Amino acid sequence: MSHSYKQALEKLQQRIEKACASFGRDPSEITLIAVSKTHPVDAVRDVHALGQVHFGENKVQELVPKMEETADLTDIEWHMIGVLQTNKIKHMAGRVDWIHSVPKLKALKEINKRAAENGRVINVLIQVNISDEDQKSGCAPEEVPGLIEAAEQMENLVVRGLMGMASFVDDMDVVGNQFRFLKEILETEKKKPYKRAQLEHLSMGMSHDLEAAIKEGATMLRVGTAVFGERDYGE
Ligand SMILES: *Cc1c(COP(=O)(O)O)cnc(C)c1O
Repeated sequence: MSHSYKQALEKLQQRIEKACASFGRDPSEITLIAVSKTHPVDAVRDVHALGQVHFGENKVQELVPKMEETADLTDIEWHMIGVLQTNKIKHMAGRVDWIHSVPKLKALKEINKRAAENGRVINVLIQVNISDEDQKSGCAPEEVPGLIEAAEQMENLVVRGLMGMASFVDDMDVVGNQFRFLKEILETEKKKPYKRAQLEHLSMGMSHDLEAAIKEGATMLRVGTAVFGERDYGE
């Protein structure tokens, strides 16, 4: 095997621990989500066998078969992290544990409806556009309170925090500012007396910018390349 998952995970764990030490974070507050998109289901099995339980996918059509083919691995928590198409939510609602990429009310309503049909409660994160680049990548910051408020009435989902993607640039000051902005939005919302929402998570940081994300308070890292190796084809 050319790519050793064991070595990759160990190296990644060292990066995370080093960043936590530098920035005064406790590694136990940080959940690593292994993003298996474009990699075969056997890769998920291999990485799971090394103790990894959180896995992420960015497309429903790839997530659903992987969830089905790993149905025996009942401890896996599956995370949908990619652009949400409302009409596909029903296909994953029976198994997905977390949906990070919720940008609008219509998606919240559909998740709630489909989770109810399956007798489930799904964890959701509101995706916020913090890079100002791609309009598809989340709601505007000022829409966050209204979405959390609307979700207070939805019994089959719980808002657990916010998700954001920084600009894909090398300048970690730019990236850090965008992550800090997401944290500030969460801190503001945490002060409000929401009843259902449990605003504890910040899903931010990928293979190239996870140190900046840890510095700014990430509790969930979505890491693909640094676990599974380079992807051959598009995202
Ligand atoms: C692919 C993907 C990641 C992981 O990216 P890497 O650079 O491979 O770590 C994280 N978040 C989202 C939304 C993704 O689509």
